[in-house]
Amino acid sequence: MTATLLDGKAISAQIQSEIAEEVADFIQNNGAVPCLAAVLVGEDSASKVYVRNKRRACERVGVESQLHRLSANASQYDLLTLVAKLNKDHDVHGILVQLPLPSQIDSRRVLHAVAPHKDVDAFHPENVGLLVQGNPRFLPCTPHGIQQLLERSNIEIAGRHVVIIGRSDIVGKPLANMLMQRGPGGNATVTVCHSRTHDLQSITRQADILVAAIGQPRFITADMVKSGAAVIDVGINRTEDGLVGDVDFDAVREVAGHITPVPGGVGPLTIAMLLYNTLSAARQ
Ligand code: NDP
Repeated sequence: MTATLLDGKAISAQIQSEIAEEVADFIQNNGAVPCLAAVLVGEDSASKVYVRNKRRACERVGVESQLHRLSANASQYDLLTLVAKLNKDHDVHGILVQLPLPSQIDSRRVLHAVAPHKDVDAFHPENVGLLVQGNPRFLPCTPHGIQQLLERSNIEIAGRHVVIIGRSDIVGKPLANMLMQRGPGGNATVTVCHSRTHDLQSITRQADILVAAIGQPRFITADMVKSGAAVIDVGINRTEDGLVGDVDFDAVREVAGHITPVPGGVGPLTIAMLLYNTLSAARQ
């Protein structure tokens, strides 16, 4: 069996065209343009690419984007001052602080300083709390993208066993929360695994939907996957062979029912959901 490819690029394009229509309506009805302010500290090359891609996506759907750059040796005070200024700016609806931040800066303090109603990454504790309670203001972009990918590919979530490998605040934890909530896009039985999990393979083999968010190239091998499972690869690893995911794609696609490629899987969905949150912030 060869798995059906889940084309994240195509689904992202579809979501972006829906958002573009809604942005046009918003501008017509409100006379204001939704605006995302991206903050980039330092010269990290991957971060520069991510920010550039996010800004291009904004342009495509009619969202205004601002880029605020600070040097690699900027202080925490400099960054907090910039965030405070953006919090007050009525023309800015969403604020994105690109991670990772240089080591002299306490990322948590900065992310907590973003006004909750402009927190389009949904990292602020108030937004995390609302999500856990099942009453989200914003859904975090990568988990929301994965949920959209599953729903729009008609992969049943309710009642199924989702195994997530990775417990980060950005992917694993919020995704587990979202998929176990009551209601559409939820009602899954969720297991979260991490580096201290014993006998990982016996758990991953139970998954109807297996999500790999580990950060280790080709970690998930074919013998870890149940026949017919949907395999979602969140990993982005730079190797000598170029960008690869956390899943051994060529072998796993022979076992899985559905599989996401890297690149072109989860990544494009993450960007689409950022645009979605920016529009939603402007509406709020
Ligand atoms: P983190 O490094 O924060 O978390 C990695 C998780 O994997 C941790 O929970 C860790 O366990 C777990 N882990 C590491 N090694 C093992 C192992 N041998 N067995 C089981 N679990 C293990 O990563 P992120 O969640 O931020 O990112 C994960 C990957 O996804 C990265 O490649 C990142 O680049 C990518 N990514 C992609 C996005 C996209 O849009 N496509 C968005 C965000 C991330 P423990 O907690 O015990 O250390």
